[in-house]
Amino acid sequence: MINFIKQINFNKDAAVILLTEELLKQGCVPKGIKTQLSILGKSQQFSAELGQIFPVVIDKTLLLIVGLGKEKDLTLTQLRITLRNALLSSYLKKLQNIEILSHDNSKENISSVIEAVILGTYEWTKYLTKDKKEAKSSGKKYFIAADKNKHFDDIINICEGVNIARDLINDNADTINSQYLEKSIRSIIKNNKKFSLEVLNEKELKKKGLNLLLAVNQGSNKDAKLIIAKYKGNPKSKDYTAIIGKGITFDTGGLNLKPTGRMETMRQDMSGAASVIALINNAIKLDIKQNIIFACAIAENAIGPSAYKPGDIIKSYSGKTVEIGNTDAEGRLVLADAISYIVKNYKPQEVIDIATLTGACAVALGLDYSALVSNNDALAKRLITASKETDDRAWRLPSYPELKDSIKSKIADIKNTSNLKGAGGTITGAEFLRQFTDNTPWAHLDIANTAWVDNGSRMYFGAGATGSCIRLLTYYLKHK
Ligand SMILES: [Zn+2]
Repeated sequence: MINFIKQINFNKDAAVILLTEELLKQGCVPKGIKTQLSILGKSQQFSAELGQIFPVVIDKTLLLIVGLGKEKDLTLTQLRITLRNALLSSYLKKLQNIEILSHDNSKENISSVIEAVILGTYEWTKYLTKDKKEAKSSGKKYFIAADKNKHFDDIINICEGVNIARDLINDNADTINSQYLEKSIRSIIKNNKKFSLEVLNEKELKKKGLNLLLAVNQGSNKDAKLIIAKYKGNPKSKDYTAIIGKGITFDTGGLNLKPTGRMETMRQDMSGAASVIALINNAIKLDIKQNIIFACAIAENAIGPSAYKPGDIIKSYSGKTVEIGNTDAEGRLVLADAISYIVKNYKPQEVIDIATLTGACAVALGLDYSALVSNNDALAKRLITASKETDDRAWRLPSYPELKDSIKSKIADIKNTSNLKGAGGTITGAEFLRQFTDNTPWAHLDIANTAWVDNGSRMYFGAGATGSCIRLLTYYLKHK
């Protein structure tokens, strides 16, 4: 999909040329288009203001000259968004081979160009019939004018990993069930000697007492699973980071059924588990030199005569009893058992969970920043650094001892809903998880607000799954 070329040759179907206002003024443009640009400049049709897209034809090549505005004001996010818009514009719809010339060949700029191409032009086309599919972006070749290097290869691999997760999230819930996710993990790991796999199926889950995970799945005709892939990337160390993903393959809300308008996209409720699968892929592709426990806690929150019920009290794997205040707060239940099982049996140095946990996230932070909650300042700080480095945005919300009162139950040790009448839903959800960490350094990424785009686009992501926090966590694991 992406190739690197020494210089732009104007010999493909199209060439996209990114220009800042400064470059235009100084006349620092590729030789082949100098005349055209000076004509355009004189007639003031092209000024390189941010977002301007100007088509010109030279011989058989369509040129899209794209304005980036003033260099000093340009952010990498704007670069990605602007290039994405140009690549998806109707001019390029039917063209297959596209050269791209960036305004600047720095590592950061070319990385952003790669992200605009792979993440920005991603579209979910599996169920489009043939004619429509041909016009879509799949199968296009991009030729970026830059020197190929290891860093760019890593960025390509990371972005392709993100798109693996997006494919899993976007597809039908009955296709992407627990069995399918297990198969995906096995096919990515194959015979890789650095991995060992533990899969807890219904039988093992029952025997070991992961009753919260089982309860959530009770109304489903599919199997619950806890899949744990242990990766030894650094044989010299005994330290492990655990990354645990919420994998609710479909969330009806359970007997506290979600209303119309809230349920249609709930196949995305396994975004955390899909992220973990992407991270397994990225750890292999980038040859990450860390020890990591990758885990997916998988269940389907369905309704039916055997579904678990509001008011039930269930004994968790940790031994704590949990009152079910609402069956739609199921993510914290499956994660609680997964966290305590991994902490007890694998003894990681730190635990990070990733989950579409609370709608309250969007109230607190909008749609561009995932929520980060942690019991450890150093860990939180490293994750925020990774977030800034990757533009995979996360913002820390507080965690403090007094919060434990918000999820007190009168009839069990703890409750899966809070007593705060909806106030601080993201931090009380996180507080529930914290109580199963046994004081292990822990961080929780709530991606309920960022994992999905309903319509159109947000930032440089089109409709459907975004794969949020995968770039962040890949960076974190690589640079730890
Ligand atoms: Zn739910």
